[in-house]
Amino acid sequence: MRFDAHTAVGWLRAFAEVVEDRASDLTDLDRPIGDSDHGVNLQRGLAAVVAGLDDLAGTPGAVLGAAGSTLVSTVGGASGPLFGTLLRRAGKSLGDATEVDGAAVAVALRAGLDGIVKLGGAQVGDATLVDALEPAVRVLEDGGSTSDAAAAALAGAASTEPLVARKGRASYLGERGIGHRDPGAESIALLFAALVRVAP
Ligand code: ADP
Ligand code: MG
Repeated sequence: MRFDAHTAVGWLRAFAEVVEDRASDLTDLDRPIGDSDHGVNLQRGLAAVVAGLDDLAGTPGAVLGAAGSTLVSTVGGASGPLFGTLLRRAGKSLGDATEVDGAAVAVALRAGLDGIVKLGGAQVGDATLVDALEPAVRVLEDGGSTSDAAAAALAGAASTEPLVARKGRASYLGERGIGHRDPGAESIALLFAALVRVAP
């Protein structure tokens, strides 16, 4: 994989597009176990990200970092700081390189995941977006393709369905949350589907 500022911008645009297409599905997932705002939250944040993309500096790290900061400042729900932290930490990990390879992207996304875990305290199995992100990052670390990572993220999102959520709003429901897919995990699957588009 060759990942430069152009790839990073394309990734964010593609993510915004798929979220736009799937916003009502994401909100539907958030309805029974949350407060029906997940799709709207991400849509609003990513619209602000896309609006700022042209002004961003010319390294992939700077593009992701700025996008992360925008998400943190424009999204009120839990997903803003969480997705924002993912992108900010990933951007920081990429440093000021103008182009990086797949291994560096894997390291960066691992740094982002670590940031999310530090912020929200969720582990795999707690029925959050971590359940989709961790397996996808692991595939990239093992040298797998972005398509394999996207498939792992989707499987991870599906794996939240039988679980009792231990973090976030869904955790208030206890066992009544069983049978529902976590919306944030589904969004992470979309993030990786968007990566496949720009870095197949
Ligand atoms: P809110 O829960 O504030 O309404 P959203 O609906 O936008 O925010 O996002 C909900 C998603 O955030 C959940 O589906 C879950 O994946 C994720 N989430 C919530 N809390 C945590 C946490 N502590 N750690 C990881 N992910 C979390
Ligand atoms: Mg919500």
